[in-house]
Amino acid sequence: MIKFVILDVYPNKKHRLIKDTAGGYGTGNDFGNTFFSKLLNIYVDTNIGMPSIEIMIISSILKKNHKVHYTRDLNDKEIEDCDFIILPSSIIAHETEIDTIFKLKHKRIFVTGIFATTKKEKYLVENSIVVKNESDTFFYNLEKTNNLNLNFLNRLFDKKDLINDYYSSVELDDFPYPDWADYAKKFPLRNDFFSLNQKIAVPLLGTRGCPYSCFFYCTYPLQQGRKVRARSVENIIEEIKYWKKVLKTNKFVFRDPVFSINRKHTIEFCKKVIEEKLDITFMVETHLNNLDDEMIPLLREAGLELVYVGVESSSHFVLKDMKRFTVQHDKQFQVIKNCEDAGIKVKTMFIIGNPEDNRDTIIQSIEYAKYLPSLYSQFSVFTPYPGTPAYGEFKDIITETKLENFNQYNLTFKHKNLSKKNISDLKSLAYFKFYFNLKKIFQIIKYFLKSKYVKRKVLNFN
Ligand code: SF4
Repeated sequence: MIKFVILDVYPNKKHRLIKDTAGGYGTGNDFGNTFFSKLLNIYVDTNIGMPSIEIMIISSILKKNHKVHYTRDLNDKEIEDCDFIILPSSIIAHETEIDTIFKLKHKRIFVTGIFATTKKEKYLVENSIVVKNESDTFFYNLEKTNNLNLNFLNRLFDKKDLINDYYSSVELDDFPYPDWADYAKKFPLRNDFFSLNQKIAVPLLGTRGCPYSCFFYCTYPLQQGRKVRARSVENIIEEIKYWKKVLKTNKFVFRDPVFSINRKHTIEFCKKVIEEKLDITFMVETHLNNLDDEMIPLLREAGLELVYVGVESSSHFVLKDMKRFTVQHDKQFQVIKNCEDAGIKVKTMFIIGNPEDNRDTIIQSIEYAKYLPSLYSQFSVFTPYPGTPAYGEFKDIITETKLENFNQYNLTFKHKNLSKKNISDLKSLAYFKFYFNLKKIFQIIKYFLKSKYVKRKVLNFN
């Protein structure tokens, strides 16, 4: 039996850090330095947390025949005794990860995650090798080909380069469920954005891949490809039933980049959830183009509570420059209103500090966010991530030297119209203006009262 330790290290910060978001590069929700922003930092850090799904799938694969210990502590006793370390990479913990690899020079380390693939020269040290692209496929294939043994694994370290080339992709239905049961015994698995439902929130991945044009700046297509791959509806339903039984929760968070991208698949999924009376609640992230009059009531009846949608900016000029595929303002308003009227909370996601932004376009976006009928909104900062086409255009004007600060909440390059301080002030202003007004407070109270007393509408498919 081989002893593995999954060492998931994070820098010590006073805001939420998650490696699973931003296509595995991770995000750090630093809302700013005002009193109100600091309160938001504490709230979000306390209420939203989960590790990478990919690393939890690897844990399940290895646990079939081997010992796996998950830890976030570099001083964990199990580290000295293990045969191999698996270290999930990200941009938001990059320097901490590299420091950890050097401190553990006497151990052999598999570095996983798309960020290590992109920045392999940083992660390839004497004692480490980098698993290229989707690392769950690598460990799955090792297990299937009976190569999960000490000799084979040790020989891999002779390569001192990227590994995973010789394995083909895996059907998503063939992966085991992520190892949430053991994880949830030690760490909180939660997603409570202004909700009173403190149940365990199980992350689910129904599809991988996104074909949209915003791959110019977005890391999801880099991590998962531009071709959409989907698990079968039956396989997702079985996983939901499994977690309901094992973790006694009916709360799920879909981590698909664009949940309803395959309309037929989504409709089939919703109908199955309703027919089988699974009685679940779930949240998703999707594109406004993929929500319509038929889908919205169906998704609500299936249990959709919260949907994240990217709006990014109110300016068509800014959006066109960043190659963002979007829908018209009228349609954005109407689709969001239809969701909210049906009882689905909407969180709009804006990006400020886009290449063509100036103070006026950002103020307009903040006002537009307030005008849209969504309950929540999020404002992050345009970030030219290494590995994306955008990085090629910005690499010569990057001013941020610490990769851990590429967390979507800082300006990392010399912007032609805005300084770092301008962006920080505008970000704090955006959160303050959006949430700290009587209309919003009244809307949130109204939502909670309504969701407590109004039952979901029952649809009839016959
Ligand atoms: S729709 Fe655009 S922003 Fe969203 S995951 Fe796809 S490429 Fe990324």
